[in-house]
Amino acid sequence: MSRSEFRKHGKETVDYIADYLETIHKRRVVPAIEPGYLKASNSRDKNFMCMLFDLIPSEAPQRPESWETVIDDFERLIMPGVTHWQHPRFHAYFPAGNSFPSILADMISDALGCVGFSWAACPAMTELELIMLDWFGKMIGLPKEFLPLTEGSKGGGVIQSSASECNFVSLLAARFEVMKELRQRFPFVEEGLLLSKLIAYCSKEAHSSVEKACMIGMVKLRILETDSRFRLRGDTLRNAIQEDRNLGLIPFFVSTTLGTTSCCSFDVLSEIGPVCQQNELWLHVDAAYAGSSFICPEFRYLMSGIEYAMSFNTNPNKFLLVNFDCSTMWVKDRFKLTQALVVDPLYLQHSWMDKSIDYRHWGIPLSRRFRSLKLWFVIRMYGIEGLQSYIREHCRLAKKMEALLAADSKFEICNDVFLGLVCFRMRGSDDLNQQLLTRLNSSGRLHMVPASLNDRFVIRFCVCAENAMDDDILHAYDIINQFAQHILHENAK
Ligand code: PLP
Repeated sequence: MSRSEFRKHGKETVDYIADYLETIHKRRVVPAIEPGYLKASNSRDKNFMCMLFDLIPSEAPQRPESWETVIDDFERLIMPGVTHWQHPRFHAYFPAGNSFPSILADMISDALGCVGFSWAACPAMTELELIMLDWFGKMIGLPKEFLPLTEGSKGGGVIQSSASECNFVSLLAARFEVMKELRQRFPFVEEGLLLSKLIAYCSKEAHSSVEKACMIGMVKLRILETDSRFRLRGDTLRNAIQEDRNLGLIPFFVSTTLGTTSCCSFDVLSEIGPVCQQNELWLHVDAAYAGSSFICPEFRYLMSGIEYAMSFNTNPNKFLLVNFDCSTMWVKDRFKLTQALVVDPLYLQHSWMDKSIDYRHWGIPLSRRFRSLKLWFVIRMYGIEGLQSYIREHCRLAKKMEALLAADSKFEICNDVFLGLVCFRMRGSDDLNQQLLTRLNSSGRLHMVPASLNDRFVIRFCVCAENAMDDDILHAYDIINQFAQHILHENAK
């Protein structure tokens, strides 16, 4: 593609994106296709999709193809297999952040094509990331010990590509710290034996990435019960630690959640924190979705006890209109994080190392995208007030959905609705609820996903679209109500 063709097709692509987002509501929210739908080998089947489309051939082209044929195939072949996460009827998972300033920032970042693993590799990337982590940390009210630019602070912040990575590197930092101490205390004990004694904790509502982190990190994980409101409590942790010490194990890490994936519950940090402090355990706080809501002071009570944490993460790419990927993470002691991750070959060293930080020591990959750019664009172009309004509106709309469902005797609400997530179920069996969700999803008119709470099947309704409105909530409730009535009618026969 020549530069002049890039100008032309680039502008067309921006128009395509704007048109797509403007007319997205006319599409099915989830695609009506089956696994393998794109493969040309399927074209021998006489199914509807294959008769309709020339599918993707089994070999890559030898000769260049034109932009027009590629973009045409995108609309023809790819779009029918797309789940539209920005659709006003998409209520699954958590929001996938998206906004025009963020899209534009990512375009520029792609054009710069920098790989900012060290300060010298692209100074602006490191400098802006530091300032953004300082801005955003202040915006959500983190204690100043976490902020990278506070005078004398040992704290620091970094953008990782996912909350899963944040959970994992926190665990690695905690593991390194405890192993350092154990090696000193027991210099003649084999390291593998010490490692086999380590035990981490989380609640049964913690995200599965915590379990994965422990699996990869080769440490035991004890999954603890929550209270009736799906929160991990201090006493539960204290008792578990005591039991495990009695068995000769070494507790070292607790991963807590503010805003659990299943039901947006909040572990009680103000109880858990002192237990971690007394027992010298690393307290990590995963607030992947809920963390951004703390830019609104009225939600900060949900993070009470945060001062006990050693590390904290939240994803602006969930609840702050920033496109994937952008997962912000702070630590109270940056040296405790980097000591677990430093390797320093000559070819990555540079002459500014004593005056700067190199983010290659803060995570797993070496190469890093210019992710702070989109955070900067979004914060500046919405302003803190604009972002607060967006979050408050989502929370108000979730309350509206909660009220509609609660007023309908067919349904029951299954979680405390603090932010944008409502968990509900039809009064009746799990099977009835499973039927309801399957039918809703396959209708293409609404998309939601399930969760299990107290071993019961519940349906999660999350407010996701940036400009969600009252009408969207009423519409979603109407669809749910229609399908539920239909199922009840069928079952009554
Ligand atoms: N932690 C929590 C609390 C989450 O809700 C999620 C995903 O929704 C994750 C971690 C994983 O996020 P990521 O996809 O950024 O790894």
